[in-house]
Amino acid sequence: MAIKRKVCLTGPMRITIVEDTLRNAGCELVMGKPQDDFRTFRYERKELINLIGDCSIVYPSGRDMIGADILDSCPDLQAVVKSSIGIETVDVEAATDLGILCCNSPTPENYLGVAEATMGLMVALFKRLKFNETFIRNGGWKELQNRGTLMLGRTIGVIGVGRIGQNVARRLGSWGVKVLGYDPYVKQETVTDLGIKMVSLEELLRQSDLVTLHVVLTRETRGMLGMREFKMMKPTAFIVNTSRGPALKEAELVQALNGKIIAGAALDVFEEEPLPMESPLRHVDPMRLILTPHNIGANPGSAEAGQKMAAQSMLAILDGKAPDTVVNPQAIERWKERFWA
Ligand code: NAD
Repeated sequence: MAIKRKVCLTGPMRITIVEDTLRNAGCELVMGKPQDDFRTFRYERKELINLIGDCSIVYPSGRDMIGADILDSCPDLQAVVKSSIGIETVDVEAATDLGILCCNSPTPENYLGVAEATMGLMVALFKRLKFNETFIRNGGWKELQNRGTLMLGRTIGVIGVGRIGQNVARRLGSWGVKVLGYDPYVKQETVTDLGIKMVSLEELLRQSDLVTLHVVLTRETRGMLGMREFKMMKPTAFIVNTSRGPALKEAELVQALNGKIIAGAALDVFEEEPLPMESPLRHVDPMRLILTPHNIGANPGSAEAGQKMAAQSMLAILDGKAPDTVVNPQAIERWKERFWA
């Protein structure tokens, strides 16, 4: 069976690395909506199926949900490839059953960018940066009650001790803080050298002065922090979430901040993105909450690096080779049988 070198790019390309690399390699491309039409656009299920058609690979925009029904309706589809780390918009389990490869693009530009940004958000919260900056603009000057907190000797809790969580811990290594970790899939010996002490979620929440979330979004991690967990935390503690919005229950976080159950938070990611105008988060005391539009880890090289890695994954797949970026290696055998036997 001749494999079609045909790839569907569902979203508009702000940079054309994927497009250029695939065209230069002789691929036929099916392009989705152009940028101007895309701001609020969402494909209907049928439209997406028609767009993907007989393509071998789909490269979906962050907005397209590639569910089981879509995967099942595209018999020529061999792989779903993303230029991001997060791949929760793809039904990876269904893809695995069908022998469809799912790839993400975990580039250092991306995960180190987020680790650096998380450090910045932590410091901003502990040092009351946002509060004092606004205070001086409004005519204020230094006041005893507006002092920050010394981070030395404090405890930082890292939930999700993967690439980003470990790199945050690595950066904290010289700050004289105690780092606790919670991740059911990471063993203590893997992270001992990084100075992380693995504990239960409850112990982490009770002991930490700041909790930072770095989990992948799964059935297990969706909504893993809510009022029950916020109440376990110290009233002086902060939360940082640069992972995925739905990992914490946003409405309950709003209540916890308004009710002074915890001291403050910094969020780069949200249950719904872009953050809706009517989101109650917009009305939380801005001195207690830092909001950034899911770009705090981004840097001029990060999108390019993600696209380069994604394009390389696609070319490998079109040559019948499973790249290292496959997140569902259990699918490889069936993929080979279905498409390359
Ligand atoms: P990773 O896969 O290396 O690490 C995620 C960790 O979460 C893993 O170690 C995994 O074992 C752990 N985990 C899974 N289930 C868990 C559970 N129930 N409790 C605790 N931990 C659990 O991923 P990463 O590269 O470190 O990325 C982390 C998160 O950051 C992802 O959600 C990713 O989508 C997000 N991210 C955000 C941005 C941004 O722009 N804000 C950029 C890149 C990545």
